[in-house]
Amino acid sequence: MAQWNPWHGCRKISAGCQNCYVYRIDEKFDRDASAITKTAAYNLPVKKTRNGNYKLTPGETIYTCFSSDFFLEEADNWRIDAWRMIKYRSDLHFLIITKRIDRFEVNLPSDWGDGYANVTIGSTCENQDRANFRLPIFLKLPIRHKIIICEPLLGKINLVKWLTPSIENVIAGGESGNEARICNYDWVYHIRTQCSEKKIPFHFKQTGARFVKDGRLYNIKRQDQHLQAAKAGIDFLL
Ligand code: SF4
Repeated sequence: MAQWNPWHGCRKISAGCQNCYVYRIDEKFDRDASAITKTAAYNLPVKKTRNGNYKLTPGETIYTCFSSDFFLEEADNWRIDAWRMIKYRSDLHFLIITKRIDRFEVNLPSDWGDGYANVTIGSTCENQDRANFRLPIFLKLPIRHKIIICEPLLGKINLVKWLTPSIENVIAGGESGNEARICNYDWVYHIRTQCSEKKIPFHFKQTGARFVKDGRLYNIKRQDQHLQAAKAGIDFLL
């Protein structure tokens, strides 16, 4: 796995942003996460090493814009060249997760068509309200690879009407960090049930730091959150 963060910093827009990890990390380094700036890695996909090879190895999945939001207003102009680089590096696969799916079409390349084959877009919905707003928009967009991310999961979500065959995967998980809000196993399992009914793959990624199961609250250390989710054994695979 490789990361490409062409810009850094973000603005909070919904409940899922409350304890944003970009803000948490920047605070530790006394940086202002609300200052949105291009990074030195802006051209990373086309950068080469001294021996002439690309720094990003062909075949890799690139976690794109994980210290910001790819569709942020402030990045509208920067995104034009970012899309060009994504198209140029068709030997890489770019994973982009956003809370701004409603802005997806702003400065979309004219040759986008029904989507670049090397791009997966994840639309986040942390609660029912955001699912109701974002997922109808997401379903209509021309994107080849679509996933839904329910993380940090903040309540029970009924997703079933948006679980169409165009959705390749649904991922759920709790919130990490000292201020983490509770994630309830029942909410996670409810999503899993909807996915299995609709034959859409489901992955329980992490429990988060405060996890409730059978009415009991568990405080789970960061290093154990993925492991505990895996132990639940509730992933649904086709
Ligand atoms: S959209 Fe993502 S990166 Fe931006 S503030 Fe919200 S959680 Fe943080």
